[in-house]
Amino acid sequence: MDYAAWFQCAAGCEGRWPLSEVIYRCPHCEGLLEVEHDKSAWRQRSPMAWARLFDQRWRRTSWPYGSGVWGKKEWVQPHVEDDNVVSLYEGGSNLFWAERYGKQIGLDELWVKQCGTSHTGSFKDLGMTVLVSTVKQMIADGASIRAVACASTGDTSAALAAYGAAAGIPVVVLLPANKISAAQLVQPMANGALVCSLDTDFDGCMRVVQALTRDKEIYLANSMNSLRVEGQKTIAPEIVQQFDWEVPDWVLVPGGNLGNVSAIAKGFIELRDMGLISKVPRVVCCQAERANPLFEAYTKAKAEGRPMTMQDFQPKAAQPTLASAIQIGAPVSTPKAIKALAACNGVVAQASEEALANAAARADLCGLFTCPHTGVALACLEDLVGQGEIRRGDRVVLISTAHGLKFTEFKTGYHENRLGFESAHRNVPIEIPGDPAAAIGAIKSALDTRG
Ligand SMILES: *Cc1c(COP(=O)(O)O)cnc(C)c1O
Ligand SMILES: [Zn+2]
Repeated sequence: MDYAAWFQCAAGCEGRWPLSEVIYRCPHCEGLLEVEHDKSAWRQRSPMAWARLFDQRWRRTSWPYGSGVWGKKEWVQPHVEDDNVVSLYEGGSNLFWAERYGKQIGLDELWVKQCGTSHTGSFKDLGMTVLVSTVKQMIADGASIRAVACASTGDTSAALAAYGAAAGIPVVVLLPANKISAAQLVQPMANGALVCSLDTDFDGCMRVVQALTRDKEIYLANSMNSLRVEGQKTIAPEIVQQFDWEVPDWVLVPGGNLGNVSAIAKGFIELRDMGLISKVPRVVCCQAERANPLFEAYTKAKAEGRPMTMQDFQPKAAQPTLASAIQIGAPVSTPKAIKALAACNGVVAQASEEALANAAARADLCGLFTCPHTGVALACLEDLVGQGEIRRGDRVVLISTAHGLKFTEFKTGYHENRLGFESAHRNVPIEIPGDPAAAIGAIKSALDTRG
């Protein structure tokens, strides 16, 4: 069977472009492109047969299908030869039943999809494997590409640098100076990327990288490039697969540039259109209150009792937030996100700094180790449960987007009560003498005071 996919205008203009073409925007309307697949080829296989095939490949060793992304290769990027796939065995992440935390906040079935437990510690690996593999294929086919470049709030650059290094393709990363964590900065340094620290914010870096990649020999790796979306969307089939092909009621994900909320909705919609599931979950895009342009558009439309449109949206300067990876005021994928949320009866929510930090700490106390962005989603979840929008018996999946270990400054700042508000769940080391008898006495009295 021949599978085919191409770029087309997400707003519906005429035209198709091959996935190997260096093109990021629609030449007619300047809008974003999306990847469309030949669904008639997909339909040659029954829904049951697809489910069986995906299950057979799940986390096995046969190259490259053991990757959660490449196990869905026909639905993701069929035009990369297996030898040109650059995979670090991304995807297939744990779907963790957060039973204790869920019950504390009033939910029987809260599941956390641990997408941050991945090669570079964030879910950006899912999209980057598709993009870098496509570039490797293009180079193999004779394209002249000198480097792949991205602007980043930290995690995209780490993923691009790792996949680029694995493939031997030069990488340029543009980072806002002093706005990313030490762990995020050290990753592209270690992977040998050309690391550029710019005296601007993420939105400023995005402007520079768009200008830089007008040179077609420098390929753009931001999620404006819809190849990334094809990898990120595999979160959707993974979730239903992990529920034995059942659909949850809700999926919550933190949103910054809004590529991921669009991707996850696309994943569910394709599964529904292909008959693998019968409904799509309601998707919640969770923003930091300090970088909330989509939330503002959503509340404006909601107050007027109508669906959100692009006219409601106003970009703004993002304020510093602990959730640094989503500190974005002019998200590139806004039109896609608005369309995607409309298609799955979506919701936009927001969380304050204090709420996101306390929610993350509360979840950690139940065995998680969450990054601040996941904290945003947790705080929004607590709100939606409190408002009765999400109900006790609903099956809820929350996407954990990065590993907490990438954000140790956030964690230590929280527990040392240095974040500018009262850390409700702090836990600091106690000093214990070295003498065994004195130590035992001190430990036992500390246990007693904890109760
Ligand atoms: C990129 C990122 C997000 C947000 O994804 P967008 O597609 O930019 O909305 C959330 N959390 C983390 C950790 C990220 O790296
Ligand atoms: Zn167009």
